Amino acid sequence: MNLNTKSLHFNDKLTEVTSRLKGIIKRHNGGFLAYCPSHNDRKGRSLAVSIGRENQVLMHCFAGCDIHEITAAIGLNQGDLFPKSDRQTYDPQIRSFFSEWQILTALQHDSVVVLLAAPLDVDR
Ligand SMILES: [Zn+2]
Repeated sequence: MNLNTKSLHFNDKLTEVTSRLKGIIKRHNGGFLAYCPSHNDRKGRSLAVSIGRENQVLMHCFAGCDIHEITAAIGLNQGDLFPKSDRQTYDPQIRSFFSEWQILTALQHDSVVVLLAAPLDVDR
């Protein structure tokens, strides 16, 4: 399945989750709909699946199933919805869009650009 390619990590998680769901269809907003595994959902595709801004897999059952029930029904727990490289539990305090590593990588790139752009005959 060709999914959103924002990050490899969340692709792994999204693939893992969607591989356990039945009746997956893609929505125009980039998310998915599936039969909710937590209740008898033969007709409706009550389960919306999407990606949160921390690359975690988000699931919402329109029939009102709890996220714990949904993840348990497909043999996962809530920690399984988060990218492996990040912390295992969701921390709402941390709202940064970039990890420290991403920022350092960007700074490293910028410093190389500055180095390359600098005149060669600078006295050291
Ligand atoms: Zn449900």
